[in-house]
Amino acid sequence: MADWPIGVFTSIDAGLGVKLEVVQELGIPTLQLHAPHRSTRTPSAAEQFVERLDQLNIELTAVFGGFEGESYADIPTVSRTVGLVPPETRAERLREMFEISDFARLLGCDVIALHLGFVPHDRSLPLYEEVLQVTRQLCKHASQNDQALHLETGQETGEALLAFIADSECDNLFVNFDPANMILYGTGDPIETLKQIGSYVRSVHCKDALASDQPGVTWGREMPLGEGQVDMELYLQTLKEIGYLGPLTIEREIPQEPARQKQEIEHAASLLTKLKKKLLA
Ligand code: MG
Repeated sequence: MADWPIGVFTSIDAGLGVKLEVVQELGIPTLQLHAPHRSTRTPSAAEQFVERLDQLNIELTAVFGGFEGESYADIPTVSRTVGLVPPETRAERLREMFEISDFARLLGCDVIALHLGFVPHDRSLPLYEEVLQVTRQLCKHASQNDQALHLETGQETGEALLAFIADSECDNLFVNFDPANMILYGTGDPIETLKQIGSYVRSVHCKDALASDQPGVTWGREMPLGEGQVDMELYLQTLKEIGYLGPLTIEREIPQEPARQKQEIEHAASLLTKLKKKLLA
């Protein structure tokens, strides 16, 4: 793979990514995939998808898990509904992540990823230990499929994330860094955090946002790339400094407006291509 190939977050029938047709039309060479619904996670569906990617010469770089019942409506709702943290759904969602890991293996993909949810900041809480346990179980399953697990950033500060990864003692646990999430959730400066956790960053999102006037209490606002508070040139420069030259995966989650979504992704790809030329020259 060439350095910093452009990528895009994609959906088949679940999640908020763009459709594969858009990736093809824009000539983007890599994608991350939101795992499809269970009924579509079959060996024959996997085979067809792999064939299609081969024909289009597109490389799949990560499969993201997501669950029924998750809502990003506001920050308290995220805390209550997202990922493997909520106790009521944890066992069932862990089983589903095992299935997603197995499906990703059928797709020949060695990275699975997810929003783990809000990990408690107080490491002495029983819930913290429970979240560590479930993460270890998932890492173990992923490892049996020769996969790494990437945690989507946003809900934790860099410091909390480093502590959590160290406490997990998993050697296949890494980070999918999303600078916009840090702004949306109000969890810290994305560039400083990227430097802090750089050695664990194995995939990234290129997404932009404006901070809330009540950071950590209400949402910031997702923005088209280049129009928010992520300094994209500094972001890429910092990725270069930490030695990250993997895919630059554009994430723009407005599937209700497909025409605008495509246009903004096209614009993001051209912005990133321009910065790439400058920074990798
Ligand atoms: Mg993201």
